[in-house]
Parts: sequence; C-alpha cells; structure tokens
Amino acid sequence: MLRDHERDTLQRFLFDHAPVRGEGVHLDTSWRVLSEHHGYPPVVRDLLGEMMAASALLASTLKFDGRLTIQAQGDGHIPLIIMEATSERTLRGLAHWRDNVQPAPLAELLGKGYLAITIEPRQGRERYQGIVGIEGDTLAECLQNYLLQSEQLDTHIWLAADNYQAAGLLLQKMPEQDQVEDHDCWNRVVHLANTITPRELLELPTAGIVHRLFHEEDVRLFDSLPISFRCSCSRERVADMLRNFGIDEVHKLLDEQNTVEVTCEYCNQPYAFDRVDAEQVFAAAHSPDTPPTQH
Ligand SMILES: [Zn+2]
Repeated sequence: MLRDHERDTLQRFLFDHAPVRGEGVHLDTSWRVLSEHHGYPPVVRDLLGEMMAASALLASTLKFDGRLTIQAQGDGHIPLIIMEATSERTLRGLAHWRDNVQPAPLAELLGKGYLAITIEPRQGRERYQGIVGIEGDTLAECLQNYLLQSEQLDTHIWLAADNYQAAGLLLQKMPEQDQVEDHDCWNRVVHLANTITPRELLELPTAGIVHRLFHEEDVRLFDSLPISFRCSCSRERVADMLRNFGIDEVHKLLDEQNTVEVTCEYCNQPYAFDRVDAEQVFAAAHSPDTPPTQH
C-alpha cells in the first residue's frame, strides 16, 4: 500500500546508460475530489481517471508555464471527456455520458470523433493544438498513436484507475545521443514495463514500480512532486460569462427566479447573482475606469 507522502505525487526517473526518460504518477485525494458528486458510472469514471493520470504525465513534459488540455469528443456513449493540467501540477476535468455505458474498446465508447491535445503557454509562445482520430482499444494506445504521429515521440504509457485512485507510468525515448552505450535499452525497458499489472500500478509507489520493473537497470529517481485537484473557476469568470450573455437575457432570468445561479461543471461550486450583483456586473462593464478584460 502507498504511504501518505507517496499519494498525489508525480515522480521522474532517468536511465543512466540510455536516452530514455520515465515518469510515474499516483492520484489519490485529487482523484476522489475530482470525481466525487458527479455520479459517474464505473466505465466513465475509470476512463476519466486514466485521462487524469495521462494529463499529469504529459503536462510534466512541458518545459514552460502553462496548461495542457486533453479533450475527446465523439458520437458514442461518452460524447465528451476533458482534462486540464497546469505546469503547477493542478488538474481538473469532467466527462459527459449517455445511459447504459458498458465496458467496450475506447473507439467504441467515444464513437466517431477526435482527440485533441492543446498546449497554452502562459507567455510568449503560441497556443498549439494537435488532433487525431479516436483509434485503439485503450486511452494509452490512442495517446501513444498521437505522440508518434504529431510529435514523432516514441512513447509508451500505462494507465489504471478505480473508485479510489488513478495511476500511470510513461516511458519516452529521447533523441539519440552520441555517447549512448546501450542501444537495446528502449526495447528492453518497454518489454519489462509491459509486465506491470493495473493492480500494481495502483498499489505500488513509483519507486516500488521502478524497483519491480527495472531492478537490473541503472535508474536515477528524482524527488517526487506534489499534485492536486484545483478548479480555475471564479466569481469574476462567471461575471464575464454573464456579460457575454447580455443584460437583457440576465434581466429575463432575474424576472423568472430572482437570482441567476451558475454552477461550475468541473467542481460543483455554485455562484449566485441577485439583482444588485447583476447591476454591478453590468455597471463595471460600462465604467470608463475599467479597461476591457481580455482573454
Ligand atoms: Zn470550478
């Protein structure tokens, strides 16, 4: 079982004699906070948990401040699944589903559609988006195809999730270097990692997984880093949304029910605006002292 300091962590490792990098993630409280109160059926819940672990792993490869979003949309039983991960190692996400979701290969669960990965650096660099069709039996397979097709990165990912936790392991081949001593390392470590079971992924800390799989290799484990659930919603953002909605529409809603209530779909946080609040929202929008907000 995991000890407290091993829960909700991301941990990187490197092989000494080969250009292969690795990353392990364990989501515990963060996963339960993200998934509770949504009533997800087990199939949807487990896929969302895998998506959470995968986003944490992929975001850890970003070399700048910003946000990575994985989004899959299709015409299947799970028409939308989305997960955002920031360089501060915070995550939020959600899924929509139709009744009666049964276990099935990924392409069938999501249906005909696409998987997009969007990277939004906070400053300086351009927003980037890559899109692939939904292919493969599992999310890990689909993401591996994506990384190979759009990024030319040879990557292997293992994911697992249940009601209590979500976990993942990533191995990535780095560009070959001249001083490589061990050319066969990539094939060998992938072969070894393929022996990991979903149970082991969930129940062993990253150090334990590395020991279990690679005890005959020279591996350097870095310090583990904390990771958490955090929603980026705020009253100010909801106010922006109401401004976009327009003063007439908001007044119409206020005539019907006295307060406009908006609940964040990611974290269930309710935001209520009564007539006085609404006046302020629209007054602020027209005040010459307030520069227009940009997004
Ligand atoms: Zn929220």
